[in-house]
Formats: sequence, C-alpha cells, structure tokens
Amino acid sequence: MRHNLRVAKNCAPHSRILAVVKANAYGHGLERGMRGFAEADGLGLIEVDNAARLRQLGWQKRILLLEGFFDADDLQTIAVHQIDTVVHCVEQLQMLEQASLNAKLDVHLKINSGMNRLGFMPAVCRDIYQRLRAIPAVRNISFITHFANAENAANANLPLSEQLQRFQTATQGLPGDRCLSNSAADLMHPECAADWVRPGVMLYGGTPADTSAAAFGLQPAMTLSSEIIGIQHIAAGDAVGYGSSFVASGPMTIGVVACGYADGYPRHAPSGTPVIVDGVRTQMVGRVSMDMITVDLTPVATAGVGSPVILWGQGLPIDEVANAAGTVGYELMCAIAPRVRIVES
Ligand code: PLP
Repeated sequence: MRHNLRVAKNCAPHSRILAVVKANAYGHGLERGMRGFAEADGLGLIEVDNAARLRQLGWQKRILLLEGFFDADDLQTIAVHQIDTVVHCVEQLQMLEQASLNAKLDVHLKINSGMNRLGFMPAVCRDIYQRLRAIPAVRNISFITHFANAENAANANLPLSEQLQRFQTATQGLPGDRCLSNSAADLMHPECAADWVRPGVMLYGGTPADTSAAAFGLQPAMTLSSEIIGIQHIAAGDAVGYGSSFVASGPMTIGVVACGYADGYPRHAPSGTPVIVDGVRTQMVGRVSMDMITVDLTPVATAGVGSPVILWGQGLPIDEVANAAGTVGYELMCAIAPRVRIVES
C-alpha cells in the first residue's frame, strides 16, 4: 500500500493525495488502510461512522465524505470530528443551511460534469457556491467531480476531455481547491491532476484499465490464499461439482480448495479461471460452491492435501481472475468475507 501510494504520488507530484478507503479500504480493513496510507494528505470514504472511527484511531489529516452526509445527525458527527463533506444536492445544502453547528466545516461542492450520478449541474454551480458561502458554519469551499471514463478517455458517449472542460468552465474564477482524478486519471491523464488527486483501486494494486497493474508499477496489497483439503482421481466422462457442469475428457486429478463464494471468491468464475497451486499455474474446474472450489491438479505433480493455493494476489493478478469471472478487481477486493483470516506481512 505504501509502495502504491508512492506510485500515485509520482504520477501527480504537485497534487496532494486523498487516498480512498471506502468499503473498508476496498476490503483491506479501515485501520490497515489508515496505516498503509499514513503518508497521504487525506483519506476519503463514504461511511460517516468509519470517518469518525478514523479520528478515534488518531488520523489527524483531512477526512472527506465522498457522498456527503445523509441526515442532520451526521452533520453533528461531522462537526465534532472535523470531517470534510461533499455537498452534492439541494437537500444536503438545505440541511447545512438549517443546521446549528458549533464548529466550522470545510465543504466540497460536487459538480456533475457528465456522469449523471451525483453533483450539481455546471449551470447552477455559481449559485450553489454563493449559497454555501452565505452559511456561517462553512469555512473553505473546494470543488470536486468524478470521471466516468478516465480509463477510456476517448469514449464517444462522454470523452474525458468533455468532463474536464465542463468542470473547468463551471468553476472558473471561483476560489478553492480542485479535485478530479481517480486512479485511472492519476495513472494516465496528468492533465487532470489538480490541487488534489483521489486514487482508490491503484493503491491496493488493482488496475482501473486494460493495462495490467504491474505495467503501471503497482503491487498487489492483498493475496487471497488457501490450501488443498481433498483430492479426487477421476476418469474421462466423470463430472465435477454442483450441476456436473465440468466433465473430464481424460484422467484427471482434482484438488478441493478451501475457499468459496462465502469467502468472497466470485460465484460466477467459470472453469478455466486461473489459480496457482504449489507455485504452478493451473485452473479452476466446475462450479464455485459456498466453501470450496475444485481445481485441476493434473499439471501439478507435487500437489497433495495441504499444498498452498493462491487465488489471487502475488503471482496472479486479481484483475485476471476478475476478468475471467466477468467482473472487476474492485468487486473481488470488496467482497472478501469477514470469516477470511487476515495475516499481515
Ligand atoms: N472518488 C470517488 C468519488 C469515488 O467514488 C471513487 C471510487 O469509486 C474514487 C474516487 C476512487 O476511484 P478508483 O478506485 O477508480 O481510483
């Protein structure tokens, strides 16, 4: 995590870094994220309770709520713990206008530059800025937007340059820090690096793009590993697992690995999804069950009960497994289940 943070910093040497630690630091653990990103200039997340927890754990730099607050009680928590908040809609603005807060707040005006998820339309940005400015409890106002296509900047439906242009026009002349870049923009579009960048997945060693994480110099923060807990020797025509979806075309050795969808292994990973057993790359066969997967041990001469298995991480990019399962590395990281034992190295 520390290494990947340095990669993010090298990509945007003149920007401050807000490391994104939402969703339990993308499945890595909030406190672990806080320690791993100790050199970051701030942390960004969604969950108000976890933002307060970061303060209790001793984080003294910026904390930003990326979606802002959800009710008036949140506002009191935010004020007490001096947490920065995004304001992305009129309802939040009204709550701020009506709140009586004992402390000043730094707010981040979110602009909808084309993604049409959260944020104010560029045309109303100046009015919203003035309303925020008029709230006594508001101290600094910054500007933030989020990219839909930084990993595919030429997307004809919404090119990155169009979002950048809309953001710049909306905020032109208004005082305050700017923050636009997610991982993909940080890695590939230095023109978007502003006062702050806001990387997430790259800090955990995942790639936001088609380019491999390793090609960007990133290292996996998480390795999901297990071991072989059973072995079956099967013949041509024998089927494996629920639904008997995989049928052996010749004699095979099947290894049963203690890891299933209840641990966060993707249920939709098909036969052929790569795994590493005893240092040898082989593949998953048959359906993923709740607690187990089955793998082809035929090419792994050394394998037996107890052999180590890597499901993703060191030597097997999470994005490769995600791709095979029709999803993204983000989802696999976030889906790690509480029962998975975490060992720090
Ligand atoms: N900023 C916001 C508002 C986000 O929602 C996210 C994640 O989705 C990020 C930054 C980080 O994005 P990434 O993980 O692609 O770097």
